[in-house]
Amino acid sequence: MDEAALAKERTEILKRYRSLLNVCRPTIRKEDRKRIRQAFDFAAKAHIEHRRKSGEPYIYHPIAVAKIVVEEIGLGATSVVCSLLHDVVEDTDYTLEDISEYFDEEVSRIIDGLTKISGIFDQTTSIQAENFRKMLLTLSDDVRVILIKLADRLHNMRTLDSLPPKKQLKVANETLYLFAPLAHRLGFHAIKSELEDLALKYTEPEVYQTIQQKLADTREERSRFIQAFTKPIRKSLQKEDLDFNILARTKSVSSIWGKMKNKEVPFEEVYDIFAIRIILNTPYYREKADCWKAYSLVTDIYQPNPDRLRDWISTPKANGYESLHTTVMSRQGKWVEVQIRTARMDEVAEKGYAAHWKYKESATGESGIDKWLRRIREILKSAETDALDFIDDFKLNLFSDEIIVFTPKGELRTLPLGSTALDFAYSIHTQVGDNCLGAKVNHKLVPLSHALKSGDQVEIITSKKQYPKPDWLNYVTTARAKGKIKAALKEQRKNQAEDGKEILERKLKQFKIEFTPENIQKLLDHFKLPAPLDLYYEVAIGKIGQKELKAYVSEQEGGGILSYIRNPFGRQRESQQPKEPPKDPIRQQMKEKPDTLLIGDNLENLSYTVSPCCNPIPGDDVFGFVTIQDGIKIHRNSCPNAVQLLSKYAYRVVKAKWMTSQSIAFLAGLRLSGIDEVGLLQDITNTISSEYNVNIRNIHIDTHDGTFQGELMLYIHDTQHLKNLIKKLKKIRGIQKVTRIGKLEPES
Ligand code: MN
Repeated sequence: MDEAALAKERTEILKRYRSLLNVCRPTIRKEDRKRIRQAFDFAAKAHIEHRRKSGEPYIYHPIAVAKIVVEEIGLGATSVVCSLLHDVVEDTDYTLEDISEYFDEEVSRIIDGLTKISGIFDQTTSIQAENFRKMLLTLSDDVRVILIKLADRLHNMRTLDSLPPKKQLKVANETLYLFAPLAHRLGFHAIKSELEDLALKYTEPEVYQTIQQKLADTREERSRFIQAFTKPIRKSLQKEDLDFNILARTKSVSSIWGKMKNKEVPFEEVYDIFAIRIILNTPYYREKADCWKAYSLVTDIYQPNPDRLRDWISTPKANGYESLHTTVMSRQGKWVEVQIRTARMDEVAEKGYAAHWKYKESATGESGIDKWLRRIREILKSAETDALDFIDDFKLNLFSDEIIVFTPKGELRTLPLGSTALDFAYSIHTQVGDNCLGAKVNHKLVPLSHALKSGDQVEIITSKKQYPKPDWLNYVTTARAKGKIKAALKEQRKNQAEDGKEILERKLKQFKIEFTPENIQKLLDHFKLPAPLDLYYEVAIGKIGQKELKAYVSEQEGGGILSYIRNPFGRQRESQQPKEPPKDPIRQQMKEKPDTLLIGDNLENLSYTVSPCCNPIPGDDVFGFVTIQDGIKIHRNSCPNAVQLLSKYAYRVVKAKWMTSQSIAFLAGLRLSGIDEVGLLQDITNTISSEYNVNIRNIHIDTHDGTFQGELMLYIHDTQHLKNLIKKLKKIRGIQKVTRIGKLEPES
């Protein structure tokens, strides 16, 4: 870099520093400015050789973090000092002793905490959920450590573009998993939404772009609607002499996506893409009365939906949120959410407790900020149940080699991570498992192989006619279920073998062969079977029939040549030994290309398997996960288990990419619903079989009061293929909705 460029950079650094001072000015005393200057000089010197991944001078980052800490979190001078210094001990040759030489004890204590946290987030070891909670609990004496770390993460997410894709995915998932819930619990609504949106941008780029584009496309139409909708409200509020602002707040991309997934509706059907917010400028003592007055004026104009009235003014949320929400019917026949709150409530909602304490008078002489920090400490440490929901979320979602699910009666069951509906059935009772036909998870019908998540409520549907099938072994993960299925299969085999024995006796008689132990042994040798039971079984299911026995007889008579006719597939098809992936090809592939696993070729090498929890197909964004038992498993990036795997076991994640290959079929699931028409099933199967190269593996349709819900499992080649099929299925009379199981196509 030449001298001119460096000089330009120095000017830019100073410019950014001055802009930090500007945002500090209203809240910071003169003597604090000196401390901040000192911290800036120290940090600038310490990081002078450093650059960020983007190539920019490193000091841009601490300055930006300090700015967030003041502007968006609401902390004071000490936190600004610490933000500027937050990466010094971690990333430069300076030590904590150096810091304590120049700065006071409070600052060095916070820097110490920040350095310790960074250890937890070390790139190679990856974050452990347990550690994260421990960190929160042990470091909450210095809550500012956590808040500065939050600001640090926010800035890193804003600048995530310059990291390599694999790291982007890890950081984004960690953010979704840990920091967004933390921000939410602490009441930083704006930060939480931004973190979630930024994370979505990297975990599901296509979804993110699509929704953003749709928001942009509909902006003008929305603003016209809002104008018309708010006009009579403004008039009425003015008439009553209320001082107010009306804003229209558009939902964040991630919360729109959340709604689309939860309610299984397309973008166009998310009715509350925006909310109207009425912000009243009203003195503290009149807040409640004025909010209800505004409510009454609004509902005089528009009919409210009584089910959707939320009063968080009388009882604020645990994180401090206060507001009055109602949903009313507009003249265009669309439901619109209206939020009514005061300017104070609005600031608390956006900025959390920092703003909250600003408004409370100090009675004990404690400053507002100290009170607020104490309150956060209480939230984090509290053992009370109502303050614990944040930690509970962690228990449910994070400590998970295990998941916790509920029976229809609300009883709790703990199952290993990755357990399916069928595992759950066997955990209830062997009979329930053996007769399991399907399950309802959160009242929705799912197949046996459906992977459960913590918090799911599971109801098992049984049928006396159902019995275990060999491929069930692929649907379960618990040892208990596997054992029970194997036992049942063995039992079935034994029963069938008994029939087979009788058949064999009869047949041998025809060939004039006596049913003696010696002759049975000869047959076993001939068919290369280990025990009489296996022989009887194969006879029972027709694998060994007239033709095969004839070949045996002629071989015995010296003919021999016909022996090759024996069905060589008989045993292979039946044996359900789990496919053992040869370990070497995997290792070799990882050694040669440690970064990318190419999937789609060498299927016979079995260097990977697709995971049944999300059934990825070529075209999906995927990653590989190295399992202990089954080699590499391929998951979709949108897999419900992905967040968990990526953040907890990042070191076992292999980047994966599809090769274009038409020769391999993958299992994908579709969910259909609509109105039950005559011939519907026929239409569905015809449509599918008309699509080149698609095979149905199973289909399940449930009708109820003239509507139906169905699930299809198909062998398919890639996403394009699947999209074509979905389009065709949607054209069938009666079908209202077709969605891919586990993922909703945003463009549907
Ligand atoms: Mn940092």
